[in-house]
Amino acid sequence: MPKQIDLVKKIVSLCKRRGIIFQNSEIYGGIGGFYDYGPIGSIMKYNLKNLWWNDNVIKRKDIVGIDGTIITHPQVWHASGHVKNFYDELAECKSCHKRFRTDLLKSDNKQISKCPECNGQLTKKRKYNTLFETHVGVIEGEKTLTYLRGEACQNIYLNFKNIVDSSRVKIPFGIAQIGKAFRNEVNPKNFIFRSREFEQWDIQYFVHPTEMDKWYEYWKEKRMNWYKSLLNNKDNIHFRQHTKDELAFYVKKAFDIEYNTPWGWAEWEGIHWRADYDLTQHSKFSKKDLSYTDPVTKEKYIPWITETSGGVDRTFFYLLLDAYQEEKLENGNTRTYLKIDPRIAAYKICVIPLASNKPKLIKKAEKIYKELSQQYSIDWDDSSNIGKKYRRQDEIGTPWCLVVDYQSLEDDTVTIRDRNTMSQIRLKSNEVSSWLSQKLN
Ligand code: ATP
Repeated sequence: MPKQIDLVKKIVSLCKRRGIIFQNSEIYGGIGGFYDYGPIGSIMKYNLKNLWWNDNVIKRKDIVGIDGTIITHPQVWHASGHVKNFYDELAECKSCHKRFRTDLLKSDNKQISKCPECNGQLTKKRKYNTLFETHVGVIEGEKTLTYLRGEACQNIYLNFKNIVDSSRVKIPFGIAQIGKAFRNEVNPKNFIFRSREFEQWDIQYFVHPTEMDKWYEYWKEKRMNWYKSLLNNKDNIHFRQHTKDELAFYVKKAFDIEYNTPWGWAEWEGIHWRADYDLTQHSKFSKKDLSYTDPVTKEKYIPWITETSGGVDRTFFYLLLDAYQEEKLENGNTRTYLKIDPRIAAYKICVIPLASNKPKLIKKAEKIYKELSQQYSIDWDDSSNIGKKYRRQDEIGTPWCLVVDYQSLEDDTVTIRDRNTMSQIRLKSNEVSSWLSQKLN
């Protein structure tokens, strides 16, 4: 395995080389903290979001989904406290002029007062609001100042009453959303770990106050197990409990799920005890009653919330860190492959005709490709030599390659090559679909 410190660089390079993630506006020199997903990365990200959505919305009776806007009424951000409190504190090194978020300048959980890069003196810290401002309307003087959402979850609180009135949800129930959030981070860094435009997945789970502890613990375990199920190395994930001075006044306890990155343990998802804070704030600011009436007991109350809020792009990056493998081969070469969960891989199988100039092989391979691609995301490669084809598929994490060779023309079998072990089996071509469906379940 590469040294941890090199790992990020190697992943950035792999992502560019194979069309997974590109720096945004690269032809103009790039813009800090913005990234685009390429042809392979966009399928992988879609698969990842789909997995989350299926597990948390489609397969559950007690959770409904929404898809809210990025721009909302500006009052939303006053009510949520973001306009007043969404600040990062920044200090600059007087020697190397690098800038740092002072709350993240820590070593062994102790605050550092010198530059972590060159040990230079730091300037006094200054505050910056990280909400992105924008204006609605086109006529000067009539424009309304508002903000790109700093977190995706606010739309859920805004639609709480609409959902209770229009759906048949009964407490306890959840509202889920995947969506973009924008933060004018003072120090975007570590590739897509900390960017200025990113996606979050949130569940706000509404409960009776007396059941808060039970549901908080439920979501803590549920989310940890979900992330663990995607990792090869399950020792690289843990909970970090927030200290008392990190907790807001309405919070009884808070835990972050963290990942062991090359630069230390870092947040993955927050499991937040929100109590009735958000609905109460929006009730106050909007002057609308956001309480819930129990259909049986007729008790009227503001529900309490457990929030699970994680980053989609951050998850994507952590999964790449977990999946990246280098292996020395007997011939002295190094093989790089992504040992990523097949459900997230862009393609489940790549269909490869052994030779690109043999019409019979191509025809047979095309038939197999056509059949399999009705059901699965399948790649096709009839270019250059077989070694190069395997290298490409290994690097984008395709779990299996299906090779149509001369024997295939005689007995209708094909070779299936495994990404992780490079071992090969032969299957009848019409058995591949059911074999694959078993592997993916
Ligand atoms: P951090 O301490 O890393 O800045 P946070 O505590 O501000 O994160 P939350 O507001 O709880 O984060 O957001 C929920 C999740 O959104 C985080 O756990 C993280 O996965 C993701 N996230 C937050 N900020 C960013 C960012 N700038 N870039 C990418 N993902 C982010």
